[in-house]
Amino acid sequence: MEKSNGLRVILFPLPLQGCINPMIQLAKILHSRGFSITVIHTSFNAPKASNHPLFTFLEIPDGLSETEKRTNNTKLLLTLLNRNCESPFRDCLTKLLQSADSETGEEKQRISCLINDSGWMFTQPIAQSLKLPRLVLSGFTVSFYRSQFVLPKLRREVYLPLQDSEQEDLVQEFPPLRKKDILRILDVETEILDPFLDKVLKMTKASSGLIFMSCEELDQDSVSQARNDFKIPIFGIGPSHSHFPASSSSLSTPDETCIPWLDKQADRSVIYVSYGSIVTISESDLMEIAWGLRNSDQPFLLVVRVGSVRGTEWIETIPEEIIAKLNEKGKIVKWAPQQDVLKHRAIGGFLTHNGWSSTVESVCEAVPMICLPFRWDQMLNARFVSDVWMVGINLEDRVERNEIERAIRRLLLETEGEAIRERIQLLKEKVERSFGQNGSAYQSLQNLIDYISSF
Ligand code: UDP
Repeated sequence: MEKSNGLRVILFPLPLQGCINPMIQLAKILHSRGFSITVIHTSFNAPKASNHPLFTFLEIPDGLSETEKRTNNTKLLLTLLNRNCESPFRDCLTKLLQSADSETGEEKQRISCLINDSGWMFTQPIAQSLKLPRLVLSGFTVSFYRSQFVLPKLRREVYLPLQDSEQEDLVQEFPPLRKKDILRILDVETEILDPFLDKVLKMTKASSGLIFMSCEELDQDSVSQARNDFKIPIFGIGPSHSHFPASSSSLSTPDETCIPWLDKQADRSVIYVSYGSIVTISESDLMEIAWGLRNSDQPFLLVVRVGSVRGTEWIETIPEEIIAKLNEKGKIVKWAPQQDVLKHRAIGGFLTHNGWSSTVESVCEAVPMICLPFRWDQMLNARFVSDVWMVGINLEDRVERNEIERAIRRLLLETEGEAIRERIQLLKEKVERSFGQNGSAYQSLQNLIDYISSF
């Protein structure tokens, strides 16, 4: 760490793995630049404080029942958290500011700003009333963040129902999405998000800035377009794990036996499969994925999170003889050390749900992808992978064993796969350059540090 600069930053992540990882990464970056860090967090999905002895962690009650904590409905969870946490958060932040004011001598530190996820709706008015600048950290790409606000309008006016002939058409308001992707984003469940999105937009515009774990090399023109949309400073500081590895903020324990198993496999032969920390799948989808992998005859490492297959605890309902057949070629684990896995020489491809972190982790290790997005920003990330960067094969929502087997063979065994591999190597190098002295991520991070030091 650089010498302390006498400034403290307060971070407040949503209690979801996909939000905790980037926030803790940002904490490490800021700490390495001299800032002291306080993380306010809910008791639900609390980050492991012992992994970060240099940060201060303050827990607030979230009022969630045991049943609510187990829900797979992210929108319901967000609603409950926003309802329950407003007052504990206000109390906690007020006390922090008061105690910073009363410090004297060498101990004295100024609280520079609050940084939180856009999904915490109540934080902007609270920060404003306490005269504390607030910045938003987004776990999405800039492209998705700015375009998501058009979804309520698309739902109301245009896309439902859709003619068969229109399915592949590009969505003008939300490039490079196709109309069929929009249909999958605008499922019934997301309707309750419309008022939520209006509020996020208002709170974003009222904030003091937006931070993205992306960069111009990946997000192209969206960064300047977002500056125009929101009229606030925008910082694309690059994929977070490129600064520090994210494993220390993992809420689950990775199965370290993956690495010795990979050591025994041939170079670029293994397909790694994970659908992230939130998506749940049906048992029949799991079987299609597993048989597609097995039938491809390539070795595979498959992550099946506990509780992620609807209606079962883990994989206990799969008959023994099928597990034995799968184990001839593959390994099934509950959670993998993903970044180490993607770095491994044996990995030849990543069948992914295209969460943003998984997508950039794959780009940064030049591992080509097979895209199986399920919802929300994953649909857009997958389009970037398959249609814009052309560094992966999109399954186009066909969770069928034959399609999966075919995609694996195309990627690992055919010339098409070689071309994809060359393109992802070039993209990786481009992203790496953005961290160099004059690169966009380097410059943006420097601007962010200067900006929050100036408050
Ligand atoms: N991850 C991991 N082990 C696994 C599966 C995922 O460490 O077995 C990590 C992965 O490296 C990434 C994060 O969990 O940093 C998932 O984030 P992403 O944005 O891809 O998806 P989300 O979980 O938000 O849907």
